[in-house]
Amino acid sequence: MKLEFYGGAGGVTGSHMVLDGGDFRIGIDAGLFQGGETDQNLAGFGHDPRSLKSLLLTHAHIDHSGRVPLLVKEDFSGSVYSTPATEDLCEIMLKDSAYLMQEAADRENRYRNKGNGPARPLYTEGDVVEALKRFKPIDYGMAQEINGVTVKFLDAGHILGSASIELSIGRKKLITSGDVGRPGAPFLRDPETAKEADWVVIESTYGDKDHGEIADRGKRLLEIVLDTIERGGNIVIPAFAVGRTQEILYELNRYAEKGKLKGVKCFVDSPMAISATEIYRRHPEYFDEETLRLLKVGDSPLEFPGIRYARSKEESMAINDLKEPSIIISASGMCTGGRVLHHLVQNLGRKNSTILFIGYQAEGTLGRRLLNGTKTIKMMNKELDVQARIESLDTFSAHAGRNELLNWLRAFEDFPRTVFLNHGEPYAASSMAEAVRSEFDVELIIPKANESFTLS
Ligand SMILES: [Zn+2]
Ligand SMILES: [Zn+2]
Repeated sequence: MKLEFYGGAGGVTGSHMVLDGGDFRIGIDAGLFQGGETDQNLAGFGHDPRSLKSLLLTHAHIDHSGRVPLLVKEDFSGSVYSTPATEDLCEIMLKDSAYLMQEAADRENRYRNKGNGPARPLYTEGDVVEALKRFKPIDYGMAQEINGVTVKFLDAGHILGSASIELSIGRKKLITSGDVGRPGAPFLRDPETAKEADWVVIESTYGDKDHGEIADRGKRLLEIVLDTIERGGNIVIPAFAVGRTQEILYELNRYAEKGKLKGVKCFVDSPMAISATEIYRRHPEYFDEETLRLLKVGDSPLEFPGIRYARSKEESMAINDLKEPSIIISASGMCTGGRVLHHLVQNLGRKNSTILFIGYQAEGTLGRRLLNGTKTIKMMNKELDVQARIESLDTFSAHAGRNELLNWLRAFEDFPRTVFLNHGEPYAASSMAEAVRSEFDVELIIPKANESFTLS
């Protein structure tokens, strides 16, 4: 049996692995490469997609699901297995992905030399619709036989529907962590741990770093909000539509219910975030006890006085005309596009406004440049002096920090023989490797892209 790594190896995006058992080949995730790695999306999967019998999806984030339509377009003929919530989220995320690709191709064709032929999107909405027909739901904890392998999804506590996947092949067991969430995060149950496995693949996004306490983040958020409001500015929060937006609303709801945000309007200005929020509402069966308790006493954490959902363009533009200071939550989370750009143009030059980052800002993005303290920005044909206050709260990360990842490993009663560290920048992975080696007696491997390992 072999385990092949194609993406999410040596970096955090483009997750894609294959388990090859000789008479079956099962894919795990098929994500898009993002940030500086986008060219790799055009380079193919590194193997023949037609050889895959099925695909298992850990969660809906686009760097894990974004190449599923491409797989189907390239004649992969099997089913895609995921939790029901992942399927729901994939519908909006993959359609949005196809839309963005079409938009980028159209933009390029306006300038492109005709001799080179037209730019085409990687896939279209039609390909997405075909891909969505392949989805088959598996709920957490249900063992299901797929191509002779028993597959079980464990709750990874990272975003709604996210899973670690256990694959039992005869008496051997492989567990792949997927993206691991933070214990204590709102809505979601804590990441489920496993007791035994022969081989483990675990992510290492924050393998070099611990986050601050989740319990403290609401207080700091409130301080930033109230301080900015008092100075008469807006708080612009660039947020990923799935996960971060709902978690920030959860924290704001706590204070709104206590009357601490009286008169403050909070706009959610992202059609995808609104759709994702609806999907969160549809799946209370995945919520943790604390969230269920809130719902029981009639407090929906995604609704509070002052919250306004802006779906249409007109509603979005009307936010700019408001005189009173407000909270504006908008995508994309790394300021690489989307409506948040308009709010940045409106607020970057205002001394009393705050831009608050709550998620990972990848190298090469506008978000990263702002975080690094750049003083001038050219965007939407405007030269802007950055006057607004730039803040960041890493306590909102959807990923386990270093010690939380180690705790996930510590939960094994029968420690695996081999641990593969994937889904991390080289520095984070090697720092994590050191920590794992010093604590456990284990064969530790940091796979590179296109490397394959025999599991014996
Ligand atoms: Zn993720
Ligand atoms: Zn990821």
